Amino acid sequence: MIEPRLTDSLEHSSSSSFVRKYLGGIFLAICLILVSVFWGFSYKANQLIEDQLRQQGQAFFQEVVLTRDWLAQHGGVYVPLTPGMEVNPYLLKVPGLKVVIQDQEGNHYTLKNPALVTREISEIAAGQGLFRFHITSILPLNPQNSPDAFERQALEKFARGETEAYGYVEEGGRSIFRYMAPLPTKESCMACHAAQGYRPGVVRGGISVSLDATATLTQMRENRFYLIASAIGLVALILAVILFISRVFIKDLKKAEERLLEMATRDFLTGLLNRRETYRRLQEESRRGTRFGDPLSVILLDIDFFKKINDNHGHLIGDRFLQETAEVLRNTLREYDILCRYGGEEFLVGALKANLEQAAQAAERVRLRMKDLRVPGGDGGAIAVTISAGVAQLRPGESIDGLIARADEALYRAKGTGRDRVVTSGEIETP
Ligand code: GH3
Ligand code: MG
Ligand code: MG
Repeated sequence: MIEPRLTDSLEHSSSSSFVRKYLGGIFLAICLILVSVFWGFSYKANQLIEDQLRQQGQAFFQEVVLTRDWLAQHGGVYVPLTPGMEVNPYLLKVPGLKVVIQDQEGNHYTLKNPALVTREISEIAAGQGLFRFHITSILPLNPQNSPDAFERQALEKFARGETEAYGYVEEGGRSIFRYMAPLPTKESCMACHAAQGYRPGVVRGGISVSLDATATLTQMRENRFYLIASAIGLVALILAVILFISRVFIKDLKKAEERLLEMATRDFLTGLLNRRETYRRLQEESRRGTRFGDPLSVILLDIDFFKKINDNHGHLIGDRFLQETAEVLRNTLREYDILCRYGGEEFLVGALKANLEQAAQAAERVRLRMKDLRVPGGDGGAIAVTISAGVAQLRPGESIDGLIARADEALYRAKGTGRDRVVTSGEIETP
């Protein structure tokens, strides 16, 4: 028998949810790509800014090292001893070192060692809001050269062999970029630091450079904000476009689906259900009837001597009769009955919740209406037809095939006993 799968799948498939899932997937993929591209941009921009700050830190560090090296090579520098100027007390402890000297005119000069000079330059730079640097070591002679938290960590890193350290720290509401590199002990350092166990080439300290990065970081945050805002805008735009496309697409798809469903379930000429769909519905009704105890009957009707109509008046008039028969069925029977064009000029009615007698009565009504029907012929006359019908009620446990076969057998008897009549599979016969 005919498989009901095609119509089943058409009725129950949800094209709109499929389209939504499909476009939803595309949207998600686009979002993922966008997010990764934007994140990549943001990451790269941050890296560039950090690289730039690090290079600036390296350049300042090199400059300080050069200044310090020059000073160390010359054993420091003597500057005029002005009133209020302090003599470096740590130098006084170095044996044989002339900390204060006097020229022929009696002017006094005091020795400034590399560490002190770099600290004083740093103070000038900081005073002008430029940058700061700091010479520090784990064991400083001067407590002012003690490492802070960042420097201590960096010095520990250098002890493990690392060659630079950098990062951001917050100081009084400002973001400071800190850079630090190690300072290997040089021969010239030994004069002052030999007593502390320093040896040339060994890292005992370093120079840290501090740059104010507040403005740069603020700009970085602003860039990130604009980047995120444009990403959100783009995603919203894509979402709107996808929603619009899916609306239009779903509408067209639904129309096409309806047309397909119509083609798969209905007869083109009469608009009644086709055999496949009717069989599926009858099976469904049979199951429902078994559950709820409702009767189910079928009427198989056939136009009498239809071939003659075709032969005498042409196929178009024949077709017109088929369409009029469908109209009679629609007007005579209940809305929920199953109306089917079963074959050429044969029609099948699934009379729901109707027992044999009720179905036979319905068939009788159809027969009488059909008898009254007049279709104008080509010669101006009116043509009439009669129908014969076989009626059967579903028996418990009976198949739809069996039911239709009994209705067919009753129809055969109607034809055999003179046509223009309704015959039931059981008793009740009308003339
Ligand atoms: P009976 O009373 O025994 O049913 O005789 P009948 O002539 O109606 O039956 P028969 O089976 O001999 O002929 C049926 C005719 O229906 C033959 C066929 O050409 C015609 N027919 C089938 N489908 C169509 C259709 O779609 N349009 C038209 N115009 N005729 C059709
Ligand atoms: Mg026939
Ligand atoms: Mg016929």
